[in-house]
Amino acid sequence: MEFRDTAEEAAFRAKVRGFLDAEFPPEVAERPVEWGLFNASGTIVNPNIREFLRGWTKKLNEHGWGAPAWPKEYGGGGLSVKEQFILAEEFAWRRAPRPGGIGHGWAGPTIMTYGTDEQKAEYLPKIISGEHHWCQLFSEPGAGSDLASLQTRAIRDGDDYVINGQKIWTSGAHGAHMGILIARTAPDAPKHRGISYFLLDMKTPGITVRPLVNMLSSHEFNEVFFEDVRVPRSALLGEENRGWYAATTTLDFERSGIGSSVNHQLITKDLVRFARENETGRANLAANPNLRLDLADAAIEAQVEGLISYRIISMQDRGEIPNREASIAKLFSSELDVRLSVLGMKLGGLHAQVNDREVHSSMGGRFPRFYMHATTSPIGGGTSEIQRNIIAMRGLGLPRG
Ligand SMILES: Cc1cc2nc3c(=O)[nH]c(=O)nc-3n(C[C@H](O)[C@H](O)[C@H](O)COP(=O)(O)OP(=O)(O)OC[C@H]3O[C@@H](n4cnc5c(N)ncnc54)[C@H](O)[C@@H]3O)c2cc1C
Repeated sequence: MEFRDTAEEAAFRAKVRGFLDAEFPPEVAERPVEWGLFNASGTIVNPNIREFLRGWTKKLNEHGWGAPAWPKEYGGGGLSVKEQFILAEEFAWRRAPRPGGIGHGWAGPTIMTYGTDEQKAEYLPKIISGEHHWCQLFSEPGAGSDLASLQTRAIRDGDDYVINGQKIWTSGAHGAHMGILIARTAPDAPKHRGISYFLLDMKTPGITVRPLVNMLSSHEFNEVFFEDVRVPRSALLGEENRGWYAATTTLDFERSGIGSSVNHQLITKDLVRFARENETGRANLAANPNLRLDLADAAIEAQVEGLISYRIISMQDRGEIPNREASIAKLFSSELDVRLSVLGMKLGGLHAQVNDREVHSSMGGRFPRFYMHATTSPIGGGTSEIQRNIIAMRGLGLPRG
């Protein structure tokens, strides 16, 4: 593949850098850890961050970069796959946030593909403006990796559907205005063919959101219960009983994982800097010679992750749909998350366990949170075992396990 930018791509990259130079506030750019922009842990450290993010979203929207991947007709930036990649890469190097989440990444693209004109007009602008936050109501206590076993039911009653059942691990349901829900509409049909996809107003009577507090003492996901929740037929997305296919559609916007790869390269740089500055102190390289080798491994792995991202984007740029490659990227990236967080804990010594930004902590006290949060990376979005199964079957031609 060609790593160098074409003249047009270089001009676009310069434009993005110019925007970040001019608009990304120096007080945030210079202190990303304090602003909670260090990793994907969702940590909101600075109380002003919500206000900052609101203003930032507005600025991005002025440039059409609030949803850069979406077609212009739906209010997006209409950027090419390569331009989206460059934007994501440059933002990641500055640790500048980009709008994301279930609304941008899942609900919006699925509504564009399967929605009616009314659904598109109603929901897409509110995702871009940040007015609506969405959650994903897919997993159930008995249906995670084997999602098609889900038991939540949505039974037709006149012009409505009546929903009963339970979802679990629903990230952000407590702050969501809307949810994408898959539920069983034909209980007697073969399991993949009796599922429908709904756009659910989270204020509908009968929905109870109960917090699940994780080991960081942080409320990120929830259990969601449905008791005779009545929704109109207009909440159905696409055809009845065809929801499984909408839920599993690969949406071909840029999904190279470049943001995560750059983040890991930045973390590795921070770790190397800390090791150099504390060679005879907290890192104590003489007493722990293997740390030098672990740092060398980390530097290599972060670069390998970048090359996987480049491979995916070059496929997408040629109009191909990455399949096993996407599984390789997810697997490698989420497991590198774990390895880097472990390395940070080892490098910082006992001080690395201090979870605050006081003088006793190492590296701003960021690693205990990263370490605990990284345990979720190989689970959310499809576990490592499931990714390995896909690679074994679709990549290596091995029989189903
Ligand atoms: C941080 C986080 C956020 C999440 N947010 C959401 C959300 O917003 N909405 C949502 O719907 N869900 C969400 N989830 C749920 C997530 O999608 C599921 O946890 C995931 O799909 C795994 O399902 P499970 O937890 O039921 O585990 P299970 O599927 O029960 O798996 C248990 C173990 O068995 C292994 N296993 C299962 N099947 C196989 C197989 N065929 N071969 C080999 N090994 C197998 C798994 O790898 C795992 O180790 C979130 C999860 C996390 C961790």
